[in-house]
Amino acid sequence: MSTIFTKIIDGEIPSYKIAENEKFYAFLDINPLAKGHTLVIPKKEINYIFDIQDDLLSEMMVFAKKVAKAIEKSISCERIGVTVIGLEVPHAHIHLIPINSITDMDFSKAKLSFSKEEFEKITESIVSNL
Ligand code: AMP
Repeated sequence: MSTIFTKIIDGEIPSYKIAENEKFYAFLDINPLAKGHTLVIPKKEINYIFDIQDDLLSEMMVFAKKVAKAIEKSISCERIGVTVIGLEVPHAHIHLIPINSITDMDFSKAKLSFSKEEFEKITESIVSNL
């Protein structure tokens, strides 16, 4: 059975798409820790990030860098924090999170909620800076 993220790539489940190429897809996290919290995933369904083949993993980080630079231009923050957890969805993903302090990376904190319109506005802003 496909992962929820494969369903997102295939358009079976909606997402706030930030960027896509033939190998990767980036979209807003639906339960964000911060405004602009974005996930970067490989289109190839691989559960654990460190099972990704070397070349693909390197390319994934370069793709994430481009997305992170666009987030930085759109959201006021000190920098973009990068983390990998992967305990919830068995499809490798990198979290890109605008941060101002170490506590902004605390995944045990309550998540933010945004309306569809707010998510769309954030998406538009990031996409315009790609
Ligand atoms: P983890 O696997 O622990 O890194 O967490 C999975 C992340 O995916 C969480 O931050 C969720 O909010 C996020 N997530 C789960 N389902 C969706 C979805 N349909 N759209 C966007 N983000 C999602």
